[in-house]
Amino acid sequence: MSWLLSRFVAGLLAVVAGGLAGLVIGGERSAFVGALLGGLFGFSALLIHDFLRGLRLMRWLRGSHEGMAPRDTGFWGEMAYRVERSLRGLERAAEVERMRLAQFVSAMEASPNGVLLLDASDQIEWCNARAADHFGLDPQRDRRQRVTNLIRSPAFVDYLQEGNFDEPITFSEPRGRGSLQVLIRRYGTDSKLVLSQDLTERERSEAMRRDFVANVSHEIRTPLTVLSGFLETMRNLPLTEVEQRRVITLMTQQAERMANLVSDLLTLAQLEGSPRPTADKWVRVASLFAQVETEARALSAGRHTIAFADAGEAQIAGTETELQSAIANLVNNAVRYTPDGGYVDVGWRIADNGSGEIAVADTGRGIAREHLSRLTERFYRVDTSRSRESGGTGLGLAIVKHVIQRHGGELDIESEVGKGSVFRLVFPAARVRCLNVSVAVTASESAELSLR
Ligand code: ADP
Repeated sequence: MSWLLSRFVAGLLAVVAGGLAGLVIGGERSAFVGALLGGLFGFSALLIHDFLRGLRLMRWLRGSHEGMAPRDTGFWGEMAYRVERSLRGLERAAEVERMRLAQFVSAMEASPNGVLLLDASDQIEWCNARAADHFGLDPQRDRRQRVTNLIRSPAFVDYLQEGNFDEPITFSEPRGRGSLQVLIRRYGTDSKLVLSQDLTERERSEAMRRDFVANVSHEIRTPLTVLSGFLETMRNLPLTEVEQRRVITLMTQQAERMANLVSDLLTLAQLEGSPRPTADKWVRVASLFAQVETEARALSAGRHTIAFADAGEAQIAGTETELQSAIANLVNNAVRYTPDGGYVDVGWRIADNGSGEIAVADTGRGIAREHLSRLTERFYRVDTSRSRESGGTGLGLAIVKHVIQRHGGELDIESEVGKGSVFRLVFPAARVRCLNVSVAVTASESAELSLR
């Protein structure tokens, strides 16, 4: 209240000063008029002064409120201080709300599902990028549009109009790329939350699983049929000793085929079910080569010229059994798919960027370009009868790809019909080391065989 008192005192002083001035100039009679004029003048001056101070504050309030409010004393000073404080408080609260909203929106954006918000009249309020992709919407342009004008799929329109949202519905994606599952939930005052999920990937993996089971069943049934046929023959027909021996050899082959298949299936299951190999167990490339070489020479039985590069003291970080299985699969394939008299060459090199490469090259029949991208699919074979004849399961390259991916590397395939193939396992530099550089950098002889 001190500001009121000071104005009162100032007014009083103006009245007294006016009265005194009147008294001096015109005697007693003019004192009253002088006091009146003095008071009028004093109060007008105070009013103008206050008006100017208020105007300064008003100007700041009308602006963007940036910077501090005009500093003043007394009534206007307190007024400016309090207005500024509550404004800053409101701004802070709005900022907190803005951040919360931004966080909420980014959480919605991160959702693996499409999220679409509709108001009570089914107009689009907001949608995340995934929903925009699922329904072919533009999040900015399509706001406030009626959703049924944009998503015209009859199944969706009926679902929305019927209003029974207990179960989700499934229908083809508007762009015809696959299937969408949509679930609607009500919230607030008849607003709707539309959740969408792309089922294409799930349907594809379900189809892959079905194909896999069908393939495994087929692969197992074929040798079983052959075996039971032979057993039937042996039981019903009197066979000579030579015929019996031939039948038993064929039965043994079929049994081996089944055993190979089961073993490859188990390897795949193990690869899928175990954690990625750590990068702290080092395996010598030379010892991997030595184990594989014995097997390859036995398989070839002298029909091919087989050469393994000297890998010196090079090492790869990973799981020995997996690495051996991958290299063995590649080398055995090279032997199996290369006609007698051909060459199989296994090379090792460390590239300039430090990555390590095992290259298995052969001078075999080669593979046509159109098959290359599918070779690592389970049970994919270029020549089914040739694969089966030579004891193949159709799972070898799937195992190789799995192993190399688990070791952070890549399988690279180069092939030309009639010339041969090169299968390369490329390991990242982090998983390759060489304790004796001069020996380990020895170039693979595969250079001679590489396709040009
Ligand atoms: P399989 O047990 O049938 O050999 P893989 O998965 O090991 O199965 O190989 C898939 C297919 O790739 C084989 O059936 C064969 O047609 C082809 N293939 C693999 N390696 C070679 C190679 N070195 N030369 C020619 N064709 C090959």
